[in-house]
Amino acid sequence: MSYYVSHMTPIKRARVHRGSCVHCRDGLGQVGQHRNDSGNTGWSAQFATYSEADAYMRKDFAAFTDVGTCGHCKPGGEQCLKAPMVRSAPPT
Ligand SMILES: [Zn+2]
Repeated sequence: MSYYVSHMTPIKRARVHRGSCVHCRDGLGQVGQHRNDSGNTGWSAQFATYSEADAYMRKDFAAFTDVGTCGHCKPGGEQCLKAPMVRSAPPT
């Protein structure tokens, strides 16, 4: 299993996906998605585990206001649905 993090900087959104997710396609993104010329969006490198991808997302995109897991592929399993991500307060 592989995991990737998508980021959409203009709208401060990041999501963890499974590599097998139709939206992710092992980091290639959605069919027809412009990866380079449609703003600062894209995909992370591959992570072997969900927890690694989650940690990366929380660290590198700590300033984003909308972070979580993909609602389509549910990379954290049912657990992520029961325990939605709680954002910690930004460092002062
Ligand atoms: Zn997904």
